[in-house]
Amino acid sequence: MTVYEADGSIVIVDAGLAFPRDEHLGVDLVLPDFSYLVERAEMIRGVVLTHGHEDHVGSLPYLMREVRIPVVVATRLTLGLIKSKLDEHGLAREAELREVAPGDDPFNLGPFRIEFIRMAHSIPDAAAVVLETPGGRVVHTGDYKIDHTPVDGQRTDVGKLASVGNQGVDLLLGDSTNAERAGVTQSERVVGEAFRQIFPSRTGRILISSFASNVHRMQQAADVGIECGRKVAFVGRSMRKNANIARNLGYMNVPEEAILRPQDLAELPPGEQLILCTGSQGEPMSAMTRIAYNDHPAVRVEAGDTVIISAKPIPGNELRVHDAINRLARSGAEVLHEDNAPVHVSGHGRAEELRTIIALLRPRAVMPVHGEFRMLAAHAQLARESGLAEENIVLAENGTVVELKDGVARVVDHVQAGMTFVDGLGVGDVHDVALRDRRRRHPCRLERRGRPHGAAGADRARLRRRRRAAPGRVARRGAARARAAPSGRRHRDQAPPGASARRARRHRVPPHAQAADDPACAGGGLMAHHRLRYVPTWADVLEECATEQATALRLIAQLGACEASALAFCRLLEQWARGEPKPATPGGRQAAIRRAAERVETALSGLQDPLDRYLLELEADALEGRSWYGGPGVAELLDWGPILDRAGVRVPADRVAQAYLELAVLVRALEGLSDAARIELVPAPSSLWAGLFDLRENLLGGALDDVRVLTVT
Ligand SMILES: [Zn+2]
Ligand SMILES: [Zn+2]
Repeated sequence: MTVYEADGSIVIVDAGLAFPRDEHLGVDLVLPDFSYLVERAEMIRGVVLTHGHEDHVGSLPYLMREVRIPVVVATRLTLGLIKSKLDEHGLAREAELREVAPGDDPFNLGPFRIEFIRMAHSIPDAAAVVLETPGGRVVHTGDYKIDHTPVDGQRTDVGKLASVGNQGVDLLLGDSTNAERAGVTQSERVVGEAFRQIFPSRTGRILISSFASNVHRMQQAADVGIECGRKVAFVGRSMRKNANIARNLGYMNVPEEAILRPQDLAELPPGEQLILCTGSQGEPMSAMTRIAYNDHPAVRVEAGDTVIISAKPIPGNELRVHDAINRLARSGAEVLHEDNAPVHVSGHGRAEELRTIIALLRPRAVMPVHGEFRMLAAHAQLARESGLAEENIVLAENGTVVELKDGVARVVDHVQAGMTFVDGLGVGDVHDVALRDRRRRHPCRLERRGRPHGAAGADRARLRRRRRAAPGRVARRGAARARAAPSGRRHRDQAPPGASARRARRHRVPPHAQAADDPACAGGGLMAHHRLRYVPTWADVLEECATEQATALRLIAQLGACEASALAFCRLLEQWARGEPKPATPGGRQAAIRRAAERVETALSGLQDPLDRYLLELEADALEGRSWYGGPGVAELLDWGPILDRAGVRVPADRVAQAYLELAVLVRALEGLSDAARIELVPAPSSLWAGLFDLRENLLGGALDDVRVLTVT
């Protein structure tokens, strides 16, 4: 995210999010800290997006909840992706969405005159942004490579770049991702060629996992697959969604008759299947991970199949990707990936391309952006080698204020910036994460949001109307977070009639928080305020969306029992995992897990009926919905064998692992819904429907089977 400010006006270029690394324990999303913008909300004229990748657009919905954005400007596909994202957040009508194509006349936002230039990247319709500002002309490249043979023929427009260079560029903000790598990034077509080499000789299934946004990759795979007599199935939510958007907008051309629904795959011989799926980062619960774990409802992999991982693991994801590769290989499939076949190329230009851009634009100053600091430094070195003077190379980090005045750029200040962590959300599919309706903001942010702004969604008002006071609790997940629940205080004045009985029931659901300090909150001093707020939970959401209150109350009661027993089960196991076999003897522990399993079994078996009933009554467009919750975290994919051995408990470890996973996801799903409620966001009924349906179809049955086995051991 880059904030451009001039004459009291602000234009924001890109609003991305980052995916947490291992050190962000329990964090699910990393957003920019919006406080600078919140303090200057009335100055914002609009957001300009360079392309549709999550690291450039992912935080837009969160930003739009903090401040009013009058207009979002982007190219067609980027807008298509954004629109669907905003729809799911209930924000689609909150900003004008303005489509601009490279080559269109420049447009004005406040004092900025803005123009797009076509750039090639790993998603179609990427653009660089030229900003004429009162202080000088700026070119912001976004992500790019100079692909001379892109799949859609839309090359990086070097002619236009050169002509902007001729007009004079004062500051270049350039993509640094591959600055450390010498040479030139290969064309996307290379991957198509690899597919052409690989496909014809294969007789089993071919399964390709890539980013769901890599439309050209999917297109090339589909083209070759269809030529080889295969049908194409898009598997994984974001893969299906993006394929739909791209096909509707004309960015992907796969004939309807060549497409197969995942559930129809079984009817086709393996040799006629081409499966395009999500999960190239080994994300838990993504299509590929589930397939690797032989846990996918529609897709299985066996000897003779070929799995192509057409992506590079984002740093931090390597272990999970390797785990998936190992599992797939164990099932007899041949696994092709970047290291053993040319099945992936980067979307970012390497050193020679960066040099070319500098040569075309001949900027007075260069400010490397996008990438870790060492990549920025490598980009700075390239600028130096291109003849830029040291004082014209601006190495900025998050929060650095760079002034461009009379064509001279220099660092003048540093403002509060950095990261905002979002937790309570399982990172599922990388490109799907932000689409979920359940999310929770950092409490600091929640409080700081303060001022009411515009009509930021009717859904918010809906919950506020029925806000009641309750023992405040700040439920935080994970080991190193959470804050003790402060002593309760109720404000009954806003409670609707009849609410108190329900409330009593609801609060039997134990708070699943543990006390700890949240470093990100330190010094905030805002939590005191937090205590007085009524904290709504999943139960409020279920009640809110219900058609028949009686059904909702039955479901809430039963689901509460399920949550409590699932928690007890998971906590018991986690104690053993931490090496705390006390207080019992092995025999006692054996009995303890049996009792915990029995409790879960009782609770779960009572759930089917109210859940069915609730789903039946829920007025939702079931086809539209996407589940609000994600899958298990990495920490939940534990190997329970050694742990149970150590505890001296003899139960089938695979069943324990399954049950633990399913119950942990159940707990997490409910937490997620509570999180959504806490930020006053009621998921769309269709999303609630999809999530509950998913719960019923994919979790509860399995969990019940698994705990039943444990009750008899
Ligand atoms: Zn990027
Ligand atoms: Zn990108």
